[in-house]
Amino acid sequence: MRPGAAELTGARGCAVRDSALRLGMRSPLALALVLGIATCGSGYAAIADGARPEPAALAIGGGAIEVAIEDGPLDLSRAELLAWISNAARAVTAYFGRFPVAHYRIVIEPVAGRSGVLSGTTWPSGGAHSRIHIGEHTSAAQLERDWIMTHEMVHTGFPDQDRTHHWIEEGIATYVEPLARSWIGHYPIARVWTDLVDGLPNGLPRRGDRGLDHTHTWGRTYWGGALFCLLADLEIRDRTGGRRGLVDALRGILAAGGNDQVAWPIERALLEGDKAVGVPVLVELYRRMKDAPVATDLDAMWRGLGVEVRQGALQLDERAPKAAMRRAISAPAPATP
Ligand SMILES: [Zn+2]
Repeated sequence: MRPGAAELTGARGCAVRDSALRLGMRSPLALALVLGIATCGSGYAAIADGARPEPAALAIGGGAIEVAIEDGPLDLSRAELLAWISNAARAVTAYFGRFPVAHYRIVIEPVAGRSGVLSGTTWPSGGAHSRIHIGEHTSAAQLERDWIMTHEMVHTGFPDQDRTHHWIEEGIATYVEPLARSWIGHYPIARVWTDLVDGLPNGLPRRGDRGLDHTHTWGRTYWGGALFCLLADLEIRDRTGGRRGLVDALRGILAAGGNDQVAWPIERALLEGDKAVGVPVLVELYRRMKDAPVATDLDAMWRGLGVEVRQGALQLDERAPKAAMRRAISAPAPATP
């Protein structure tokens, strides 16, 4: 479930950590709040101090994934945690064609008395790594429904960006995560579309908006970025006669070396994506949306794709003009494009 709108302003500094945890941490807003602690330098040092001495090693999609579980109360077994992490890694591998980075570390931090996956934060510095807070009483069923682990892993698949372009990082994660999970059978594809119908209005520009590069609200960062991704996906498919999609552009960026271990200017990354699909959609769309509040007629877009949500249920119109495009986005991309 993806949440309602809220503002990101002031989400910096160590103090946000506690308040973010109290919020429940099952929202991109909460994740964004926790990202504030990345500037506090509190991220990785605790691994050496508090982790159990024997981290688990997973090999998935060509990536070596190290998992350290810190001391603390947790109902979940180690095997259940590793299965959850493995599934997230398989989802990300299904989308990108491989795990985005060669080495990735995860620290699981139990939180006493709580339930659910509470937060995730990912850092590129010192090697790609994430810290995940998990409540003591989290069940395996809750892990199966959770999106945070996959979301964090998606962040490793795009060059590191500064705050101006944070929306592209969160937009890709918001757009790719549910699709990737659906491609391995861990999220219903119908929910992917209903989530987009519910969530994308949060990404539309509001009064005073100055474009994606200059409007750092929660809505524009997560859902504005996701809208950029969907518009790009549709436009790439349109201009390539359905032969290519955003997935091919993102795989192309990765193939050119563009994971989170490099800090490329945004246009360099987008250009690599455009080269991979043979049409300059990403750079053109970025230049159109970066400094201006570009309006999108979501209702017309959904009609074109044959997507309608009635009383929470997805209704598909297979005769809609762009129904084939919607089916193409839904279907797992071949392992080798
Ligand atoms: Zn994120």
